[in-house]
Amino acid sequence: MTAATLNTLLSDGVSGRTVLVRSDLNVPLSEGASGRSVTDDGRIRASLPVLEKLAAAGARVVVTAHLGRPKGTPDPQYSLAPVAARMAELTQVTIRRAEDLVGPSARTAASELSDGEILLLENVRFDPRETSKDEAERSQLAAELAELVGPKGAYVNDAFGAVHRRHASVYDIASRLPAYQGDLVADELQVLKRLTESPQRPYTVVLGGSKVSDKLAVIENLIPKADALLIGGGMVFTFAKAMGYGIGKSLVEEDKLETVTGFIRTAEQQGCRLVLPTDIVMASHFAADAEYEVLGIDQLESGAYGDQALGLDIGPQTGEAFAAEISGSNTVFWNGPMGVFEMEAFASGTASVAQALADSPGFTVVGGGDSAAAVRTLGFDERAFGHISTGGGASLEYLEGKSLPGLEALNA
Ligand code: ADP
Ligand code: MG
Repeated sequence: MTAATLNTLLSDGVSGRTVLVRSDLNVPLSEGASGRSVTDDGRIRASLPVLEKLAAAGARVVVTAHLGRPKGTPDPQYSLAPVAARMAELTQVTIRRAEDLVGPSARTAASELSDGEILLLENVRFDPRETSKDEAERSQLAAELAELVGPKGAYVNDAFGAVHRRHASVYDIASRLPAYQGDLVADELQVLKRLTESPQRPYTVVLGGSKVSDKLAVIENLIPKADALLIGGGMVFTFAKAMGYGIGKSLVEEDKLETVTGFIRTAEQQGCRLVLPTDIVMASHFAADAEYEVLGIDQLESGAYGDQALGLDIGPQTGEAFAAEISGSNTVFWNGPMGVFEMEAFASGTASVAQALADSPGFTVVGGGDSAAAVRTLGFDERAFGHISTGGGASLEYLEGKSLPGLEALNA
């Protein structure tokens, strides 16, 4: 069975009904003089269209979302208040906010909501039942969320970034209310299907980020599908060490050396070119103002900082080589920054890859929370990319071929 869409819900009529929407508003925040504020509002802007559509159709919209990883208890550091403030700046629709999730503030605010208004509930992860392994506990929270929207209520899951979680507001709630798939989830799935089912060749996958262990399954799943796999970021050094090179103090996962050696072998057998960096930016220490120099991949310990150096970005030669690979491809999927892009000195590799994707006439997809944030914070125009996925873990798990609980629940 396939999920009922938002259009089905809209044509059934939502005027005067309360609709619970699970959105992905998990955005980066920073502490400033005037309190906490949103540093990258990409996910908020991506979530607004569905909320606005429902509001325009006369629904009373109640939004539930998480922010960060609070420990199952209210924590002001993870309040959705700055998100509500940013939402209000981005839309004409009235945004109201509850001080809690299913408590007195939420119940009053939900019952007082007018048609065409939006109410943002407080961080759903302030309630330990949201992420509980105990189904009865999650189910209890789902029941309380369903109660907020009343007997004529409906549920829309538009939180693509959370569909890989078996959480109360993503999974259990779908059996409590008539459940629909939001447009954002539908769009993301369409793009990911295009990558898994019929990518136009050559199909190049660029992988970076900090840990190989996060990406093992996706590497394994993509080797048979992609024509080339370009490796950057912190995971380079586990590959480099597996190939016998010294890597100084660079990030490495010793327990993955054998797995990585296996990947090199399978890639060769399956006709997928595994492209590793030829040069690396080696720094004196992990700091934005560290000294650094560019060294060849087989010379990483031969520089000024010897075996104390650590690799924080791909080198310029690699950046150019990766860009050339990307511009010669018809489909590109990119996940994971090429270096520690949060520090200006180590952002060049990530910028080269982003630039190559932006310039590419092919179909380009950026997936991953940090990669998407990198594209925006480095100043790229999102429209230059075929698609920027709002979901990091979710898009990777989809590409790994895993079943996603949030989607399962909508299809049930
Ligand atoms: P995404 O969220 O896009 O999936 P990841 O979470 O896997 O990406 O990785 C992002 C992080 O990887 C960034 O914070 C970046 O600083 C870090 N990173 C990239 N290259 C290195 C490196 N050489 N050493 C240490 N950390 C790195
Ligand atoms: Mg990340």
